[in-house]
Amino acid sequence: MTASIYLVKGRDKSLRRRHPWVFSRGIQRVEGKPELGDTVDVFDHKGEWLARGAYSPQSQIRVRVWSFEQNDTIDTAFFIKRLNAAQGLRDILAERDGLTGYRLIAAESDGLPGITIDRYQDFLVCQLLSAGAEAQKDNLIEALKTCYPECSIYERSDVSVRKKEGLKPRTGVLHGETPPPVVTIEENGIKIHVDIVGGHKTGFYLDQRDSRQAAIKYVKGKRVLNCFCYTGGFGLYALKGGADKVINVDVSQPALDTARQNAEINGLPVENAEFVNADVFKLLREYRERGELFDVVIMDPPKFAESKAQLVGACRGYKDINMLAMQILKPGGTLLTYSCSGLMDSNLFQKIVADAALDAKRDVQFIERFSQAADHPLDSAYPEGFYLKGFACYVK
Ligand code: SAH
Repeated sequence: MTASIYLVKGRDKSLRRRHPWVFSRGIQRVEGKPELGDTVDVFDHKGEWLARGAYSPQSQIRVRVWSFEQNDTIDTAFFIKRLNAAQGLRDILAERDGLTGYRLIAAESDGLPGITIDRYQDFLVCQLLSAGAEAQKDNLIEALKTCYPECSIYERSDVSVRKKEGLKPRTGVLHGETPPPVVTIEENGIKIHVDIVGGHKTGFYLDQRDSRQAAIKYVKGKRVLNCFCYTGGFGLYALKGGADKVINVDVSQPALDTARQNAEINGLPVENAEFVNADVFKLLREYRERGELFDVVIMDPPKFAESKAQLVGACRGYKDINMLAMQILKPGGTLLTYSCSGLMDSNLFQKIVADAALDAKRDVQFIERFSQAADHPLDSAYPEGFYLKGFACYVK
């Protein structure tokens, strides 16, 4: 029998606004003995049915809501319904931006808490991040097989957040073929080699696509420094946009090797690019000491804050690299800077960049704002889905 969760009086408001989380402190009592990932019904303190979700006894987020429709059973048909709804938006974006790689399911933002699915050609790459997602794995796989009979399914649940839900990391084939070492996708007319099995996350940073495209207008004839380049990313767009010189920097040699290949397969002028294996923090200090200057600096670091406890340290890290970036910009240069730490909101990030400007002794104006690409939508009921922000700054 489905267990029932009764909320503390007054704790029903967020669910009524269709926010998909129930926190442990909002629960008055649990009827039944739900286990990790089991489907439970959630009621207000008077016993009115509110939602159906997945139970996670070890997590502060005790229930993640699958559905606000009482008639929904959480089965294969439910997942098919969610996949079809998500596909609608992706069809529009795939057509608009020429995509053969995109985020098909962005977890809570697509009504499937704890589940992300990226599509690279005919490979679907899943990350199951919550107890509920793990418990529904078979239903999800069946639904994916039904909706995408042409696709193979691979799991990349090798992420630390699973620990909070009492789950171990896991990777491997869920259906069909093992992904080859290189799957080539396309976005905005640019081809990109993706390593699904060995790459970062599910293989590629799809979320920066719109910002990469926006970067094109700042680079023509410029000397560009692309920090944290991964497999080329912004650097490929910079070459396409007619940059004079693009210096790509990363600590991962496999990523740098792929970055060079990506420039080659697009017929971009590789002779105008350098691929430097270095720690950005150190290299920027060296550039500053040597007096090397750039017209454009792109700063797209990995997530510095994984938890609230790390936020203060993360702020220092962001301030440091943005200060260094400003100090190696020519007067009138452009800084394109990003933060993918969800815990740092846009205002805080703006403040950090402002502090960096003070320390760098440069006058800085914000001239454009960026956010995650459109296949990582922000659901109106779930503002936490906004995690990636950025600014174009005019550095005087
Ligand atoms: N801009 C990229 C995504 C960047 S992801 C894109 O558009 O696809 C962050 C990258 O930073 C990773 O490739 C990681 O290898 C690299 N990295 C992490 N710490 C680093 C450091 N200290 N110095 C240089 N690169 C680093």
